Amino acid sequence: MTAATVTTAPGPDQGPGASPRADFATWEHQLADTSVCSHPIRLHGRIRAVDLATGEVAPIYDTASEPGGVLHVACGNRRESICPACSAVYKRDARQLVRAGLLGGKGVPESVTAHPCVFATFTAPSFGPVHSRRLRGRVVLPCRPRRDHKVRVCPHGRGISCPARHGEDDPRLGRALCGDCYDYQAGVLFNLHAADLWRRFTTYLPRHLARLAGLTQKQLRSLVAVRFVKVAEYQARGVVHFHAVIRLDAPGENYQRPPARFTAALLADAIGQAANAVRWSPRPDQDYPARPGVVLRFGVQVDCRIIRDRQVEGLPGTGDKLDVSAVGNYIAKYATKTLTAPGVPDKRLRSAADLMGLRCSRHYQQMIETAWKLGGGRTGPADTRLCKWAHMLGYAGHFLTKSRRYSTTFGVLRRARAEHRKALRYPDGERDPWGRPLDEAVVLILKTWTYAGTDHIAATPAAELALVSADMARGR
Ligand SMILES: [Zn+2]
Ligand SMILES: [Zn+2]
Ligand SMILES: [Zn+2]
Repeated sequence: MTAATVTTAPGPDQGPGASPRADFATWEHQLADTSVCSHPIRLHGRIRAVDLATGEVAPIYDTASEPGGVLHVACGNRRESICPACSAVYKRDARQLVRAGLLGGKGVPESVTAHPCVFATFTAPSFGPVHSRRLRGRVVLPCRPRRDHKVRVCPHGRGISCPARHGEDDPRLGRALCGDCYDYQAGVLFNLHAADLWRRFTTYLPRHLARLAGLTQKQLRSLVAVRFVKVAEYQARGVVHFHAVIRLDAPGENYQRPPARFTAALLADAIGQAANAVRWSPRPDQDYPARPGVVLRFGVQVDCRIIRDRQVEGLPGTGDKLDVSAVGNYIAKYATKTLTAPGVPDKRLRSAADLMGLRCSRHYQQMIETAWKLGGGRTGPADTRLCKWAHMLGYAGHFLTKSRRYSTTFGVLRRARAEHRKALRYPDGERDPWGRPLDEAVVLILKTWTYAGTDHIAATPAAELALVSADMARGR
């Protein structure tokens, strides 16, 4: 089982090249935090200290002293379906990160609540009629009512009316009423290029803001900075949409308010205009050797809600106000939740044979097949992105992205957590093997780790604990 020897513990928090000091903190963090991880990495190894003055070597830690002789390192997977424990940690961080940008904290002043700020939702356009849950106020409307008491019929002769008032968890939601009418190619290409559309939007936004404010872009840059955090979420129809908190600050690092002329209403107008202007034309390239012409764009209406007095104005449907903390929870939820529809594979497809084994709805199967075929099928190491991400219905992007200086960072939050644990473990500060306060100018910390496998070894107490914890997390 033993593979290559590594000299640092490749934890979820640090890649190779992290400083020995940071690495030591990582190790401790793992020690305290991994018993509940569903798929931990098992390591053999030890940590030693070398007295730089005398050359004396003394042990600090050896996995031989652990149950089973291995150290379990958290997998760090953000997907709830793969590791509930690690994704819960990430979700907590995501919530704090979003909250700090809305309410202050974690190094952001509370005065940030007075900045112009908007909660915006960017959806995809329609790719064909699907079952949907429509609301007026709190009343659920019929999905696709008949017209003049007549069943609507599509060009393929299929009835595309649906008088049902769908419940929230109706499995029909999002499914195409006619698989031939639905443009599956455009759907998967939208997913594939959603991140490109977003990137283009972030380029356009300052231009539209400048125009609305009657300024040049250069003048604008000297007065305001646009900051955001955004998450991707799958709609029932299998197409991603984005939720974003977009805020205006004065330029610089101190989270100052921009001049009063930049209002939230102005920002909302600029967002609407910029989103409407975004277009993306996929060109035939390695991703889809023979792509028919399609121009991708966001749906016509970008939903923009102004955040004021710690409240989000007028929610869709109900018109209720929402506390901004709920926005943090909402965004954090989607930062860890990927496509959770039953039967959708959580691993990449290896061959066309995998398409046969799909257990998800016909609609999702169609999307996966379309992505696979459009991507040219699996050809080897030079797989197209569409084939790589066919199991994700074509979406290859991140589930949470943010601009610099929206608020704090995941790295800062993780380091703070490691420091906190260390402070609990060593209330008087860390000591080296000679009893002195740990000082890396005095001792050198040497670590040797060998990969010993993945997952708990069955029937150990840790494995049972992980199962129980995963169950609890799902229950929550
Ligand atoms: Zn894990
Ligand atoms: Zn319906
Ligand atoms: Zn049709």
